[in-house]
Amino acid sequence: FCEATRTFRSLRPPVPLPPKDAPLSFTAFAFSLLPSSPPPEHPALLDAATGEAVPFPAFQRQVRALAGALRSRLGLRRGDVAFVLAPARLDVPVLYLALLSFGAVVSPANPALTAAEVALLVALSKASVAFAVSSTAAKVPAGLPTVLLDSDQFRSFLRPEGGGEGLPPETVAVRQSETAAIQYSSGTTGRVKAAALSHRNFIAMAAGSHALSPKPRHGGCDRMLLSAPMFHSLGFYFALKAVALGQTTVLVTDAVARRGVKGVVEAAERWAVTEMTASPPVVMAMAKEPCVLQTLGRVVCGGAPLPTTAAERFRRRFPNVDLCMGYGSTEAGGISLMIGREECNRIGSAGRVSENTEVKIVDHVTGKPLSVGQKGELLVRGPAVMNGYVGDDEANASTFDSEGWLKTGDLCYIDQDGFLFVVDRLKELIKYKGYQVPPAELELVLQALPEVVDAAVMPYPHEEAGQIPIALVVKQAGSKVTEAEIMDHVAKRVAPYKKIRKVLFVDSIPKSPAGKILRRQLANYAQFSALSR
Ligand code: AMP
Repeated sequence: FCEATRTFRSLRPPVPLPPKDAPLSFTAFAFSLLPSSPPPEHPALLDAATGEAVPFPAFQRQVRALAGALRSRLGLRRGDVAFVLAPARLDVPVLYLALLSFGAVVSPANPALTAAEVALLVALSKASVAFAVSSTAAKVPAGLPTVLLDSDQFRSFLRPEGGGEGLPPETVAVRQSETAAIQYSSGTTGRVKAAALSHRNFIAMAAGSHALSPKPRHGGCDRMLLSAPMFHSLGFYFALKAVALGQTTVLVTDAVARRGVKGVVEAAERWAVTEMTASPPVVMAMAKEPCVLQTLGRVVCGGAPLPTTAAERFRRRFPNVDLCMGYGSTEAGGISLMIGREECNRIGSAGRVSENTEVKIVDHVTGKPLSVGQKGELLVRGPAVMNGYVGDDEANASTFDSEGWLKTGDLCYIDQDGFLFVVDRLKELIKYKGYQVPPAELELVLQALPEVVDAAVMPYPHEEAGQIPIALVVKQAGSKVTEAEIMDHVAKRVAPYKKIRKVLFVDSIPKSPAGKILRRQLANYAQFSALSR
């Protein structure tokens, strides 16, 4: 902590990054870190359900062949935005790296979204092409050229003779500052926005992971079970960094995911993984599973808070596994992480500030910078922080301050040992099992109902999901609309994880003179307090 600037810096030594102005795509960076001859028994990708594997050399060949085919056969160019609507598949990381290699922008989204939700995202990112599978293609807006990953055409693109070999991606000089990915997040307020992350952002994070990467505990292979979805910032980054670290990514494909945590744990056991990502609900459920997990060395958990009791239960159940909490966001990447035994024992903390990153804690009303142990909004600055939201100057102006600090909207403090604690969320965001549910989006859906005069959506604590969205609704005088009808109206229009799970009828919604919902006052409602009893 620097008293003069009231800034906290990482306690870890700075990690050297490639010169900023050197042209370098994330793909070229990741491949440059790979050993020239990785052991053949150590694949880049492995399907947890079928055991189908892609060895590193074949993976690199596929990335090159696909990049060439996308350019020569589909005419894709640097800067083109490719919308990806697909479940976990072996070809998705290949697609990501192929697009990144020649400067096309990857924009992945949750395949559970409805067609209307997808249309909104496509309009935000201005995608010019979509990559989908047969089961998701119908949700892609008409008129957007769509490539099916489960088609013969796409499979042929992955082969060297697929038509693209003549155009090596190395011929495109991608600047690190260029946008690599557009990810969707509501940030601190309002509806979903398109966050632009640069090649530099991912290079910086992967360089950090590479420098810190503990040696695999069980000799031989380093295998990472990716239970986080690859369209979300955490899973997206983990899929990319695994390539840079030469790890095998074990993919939780639909056949495994359908079986829930049982399927995930069995996959971890079957494929002898050394590391896995897990959202808080997965960590909580794992502690109840009868399994051995002999090879597992660490679980990286993030995306939402993990209750202390759950962390303790997990540690008792798996005393030899490091439970590493990580805290970050779509907009800022990894802000803090626990690494190693000593750090992982600090239960309740979200870890220490990541290398090359600076943070500040400020009073969220006055903006005054605070000191060690004081609670306030966390601001972050560093090479992993996004370029900004695409085409949204207003959101950018309210998200960044004049010195380039990004406001996280999270209430935090940092103790004397540099451990970060996330206390509460100041921003308008509900996290259901780690997935973003922006209240403003549901409020619009509710307000479209003629019998609803006004509505506000707020988080409600839930043991398994972390939070569930509940609606406070002012109905029209004399209306007989029921809770079930309102929930049904919403459920038909949004992805399943965004569903309203409880409706409370109220007389009015507290608003500021400017008409903004006073969210902090919503919890004062008698009906809401009655729920908690
Ligand atoms: P996303 O952009 O979907 O990754 O969401 C980022 C937000 O999730 C953060 O701003 C926090 O509100 C929340 N979050 C992520 N990790 C943690 C954590 N370890 N503890 C508490 N909240 C978290």
